[in-house]
Amino acid sequence: MEKKELLYEGKAKKLYTTTNEDELIAEFKDDLTAFNAEKKGSEQGKGALNCKISTELFALLEESGLKTHLVKTLDDNHQLVKKVDIILIEVVVRNTATGSLSKRLGIEDGKVLPFTLVEFYLKDDDLNDPIIIDDHCIILELVKDRAILDILRQKGLHVNRILKEFFEKRDLNLIDFKVEFGIDKNGEILLSDEISPDSCRFWDMQSGESLDKDRFRQNIGNVKVAYEEVLKRILGDAK
Ligand code: UDP
Repeated sequence: MEKKELLYEGKAKKLYTTTNEDELIAEFKDDLTAFNAEKKGSEQGKGALNCKISTELFALLEESGLKTHLVKTLDDNHQLVKKVDIILIEVVVRNTATGSLSKRLGIEDGKVLPFTLVEFYLKDDDLNDPIIIDDHCIILELVKDRAILDILRQKGLHVNRILKEFFEKRDLNLIDFKVEFGIDKNGEILLSDEISPDSCRFWDMQSGESLDKDRFRQNIGNVKVAYEEVLKRILGDAK
């Protein structure tokens, strides 16, 4: 399968059309951005690491019965994916308070939440991805009815159930993550975009160290080493 035209370029990926109108090629870039692209950087090999990590996690989720847009991996940093209309809602799932949740509500950083929290954010860089409630989703016509919002919550929780346990067995604490969904030509809701250390927070169970994009956000360094460690644990044996 070959790339035809560049359809879209985002912060971390490019999407190309292919000879099959129902499929696109996603290219994972080495670019890193944070704080709505106010902070920019690049790490050679980051795109390939995220492509591999995301492929492994999407395959795991497919096995658990969750439909995803992934068709197959083409090479180090390209995936063949089903073409979908992306729902402009970022579904954030949190097990432990940190990041914007702690900042906004003053919840102690690192506090384990009494239940898994699912939040919706508007996918709109110009507006700085504001947090939204169900009524906003309907008013903005982000989905056609409220039932879809419940499906997104259920799917977000499904991803969490599978990944939290998977990473626990690999000594990584899944703190929170963001997922996106799209609707394919048959009207099916598919997990789309990526799941990687760019979109998740992982804390090492022993040291508490961040092995994710917080290393870039907070200038901790060794970003690529951390992403490599996440991949190593994914591919390694479970406890
Ligand atoms: N996240 C993301 N893209 C975004 C915003 C958040 O992938 O545009 C992820 C982020 O990596 C974290 C989770 O969603 O795993 C929750 O992020 P939070 O709301 O705490 O935002 P931040 O502190 O990054 O501003």
